[in-house]
Amino acid sequence: MKQTVNIKEEIKKLVEVQKLDAEKYDLQSMLETFPEKIQEMDVLLEAKKNEAQNTGEELKTLQVLKNEKETEMQIKEEKINKHKTDLYKIKNNKEYTALEQEIKSIEADVSILEEEIIGYFDKIEEARILSEKNKTAFEMEGKKIEQKKTEIAAEEKELTEKLIKIDNARSSLTKDIAPRILEVYERIIKNKGRIALAKVNGDFCGGCNMQLRPQIVNDAKLQKNIVSCENCGRMIYAQS
Ligand SMILES: [Zn+2]
Repeated sequence: MKQTVNIKEEIKKLVEVQKLDAEKYDLQSMLETFPEKIQEMDVLLEAKKNEAQNTGEELKTLQVLKNEKETEMQIKEEKINKHKTDLYKIKNNKEYTALEQEIKSIEADVSILEEEIIGYFDKIEEARILSEKNKTAFEMEGKKIEQKKTEIAAEEKELTEKLIKIDNARSSLTKDIAPRILEVYERIIKNKGRIALAKVNGDFCGGCNMQLRPQIVNDAKLQKNIVSCENCGRMIYAQS
């Protein structure tokens, strides 16, 4: 026995299903943007982290170089002191002059080293400020991103719950729709997206906006059978 189907009722249900599907589509589109958003934040945070690490390394390098220069200067100063003590022991005039020259030469080196060390102090101070700045920027970005991720997770949860509700509502609607009509609807949604069932506006298809033949408009108003737009293939309905 062929089941009689009230097309008008079916269309009413399908209109509701379509509303739910549109909502579902929007929610899913929104949910799909989250992983990309999170990835963008992670990339940004990684860049800040690298920046902070690099400037931190630069600071350390400068400190090592300054320490090396200081050690070098210390060795030279010790040498000067030793030579100065040695001066007292020298009886020979020529040797005395030679050692005095040597001391002067080392003292000149020490002066250069002193200049260099002062230069390092300035560079280190600059590097320290920059390093602190980048470290703070990285930490702040980290906190900001953590906060955003928490918000996204909350939103994700909310949207997922909404989706479940929509799915439940959809299931209770679709179980009462004739399978062959639902199949047509599903097939068109798959191909066209969003609108499978279009309302007739005047004598135009609400899906593709093309003019419909009077006979088609009439059939759509009667709602005795499933009527399709000859142009886009969507199911159409009209208020009689
Ligand atoms: Zn159409």
